[in-house]
Amino acid sequence: MSRFYWVAEDRAATARHGGYVDARHPWGLPGVRCHVCGATWSAVGHDFPSVDLSALPESRELVTPRPESFAEFVRLRELVRPYVPAGVALPPGTDFGPLVGRAVGGLGPVVWSGTRMLLRRDALERLHAEGVLGLMGCPTSLRFRQKDPPELMELQLEPLGRFHPDCIPADVPPPCPTCGRFGLSRPEAPILDAATLPTDLDLFRVGNFATMVIGTERFRDSVLRLGLDGLTFRELPTR
Ligand SMILES: [Zn+2]
Repeated sequence: MSRFYWVAEDRAATARHGGYVDARHPWGLPGVRCHVCGATWSAVGHDFPSVDLSALPESRELVTPRPESFAEFVRLRELVRPYVPAGVALPPGTDFGPLVGRAVGGLGPVVWSGTRMLLRRDALERLHAEGVLGLMGCPTSLRFRQKDPPELMELQLEPLGRFHPDCIPADVPPPCPTCGRFGLSRPEAPILDAATLPTDLDLFRVGNFATMVIGTERFRDSVLRLGLDGLTFRELPTR
């Protein structure tokens, strides 16, 4: 079995390049005010930049982030469901559509915008040529001030696989049966649940902790061989 790595932003590399991307997706499911668990929340890391909702008559209702009742959230979620791949989780705060915003200053081959990961088109093509599997690059709509700006693609990284129960503290309550909220902080020593990990993708998010990006050994080796800066790698055990 492949080794797996927690892939994160190399902040030193970002600082060296000096620039940043300030952008958002055009549509999103609202947050939820849950009448069962009492939490008002929305998830982070559930982004579908390839999903265009401009043909959805109610898409205007998905423009302004806000909390809604669970019933209203479900109504909007079911309007969106035909537009997304079958079987994906659509928690409150799931975003859709190409990133819109601005890019400022110098950027490397890998650019992070919050938890979103963008690649320069040439870097994405070189990773594809290395045989890295499952990198879906989506067009962005970014304004640059410089001449000849780079073309940045946002990766659609689906939340898949789970943490192993052994790394989740015993005092963390199970997910809310209604809204699905799981109040888990990042474990001190994350362990991936081997049986749940995808076998046909080299980069994905943890299904029950989607801010965390996981790469395979093939992804890491390719990035290092190509000398693409902007990423740190920490190996995680599987069980
Ligand atoms: Zn709830």
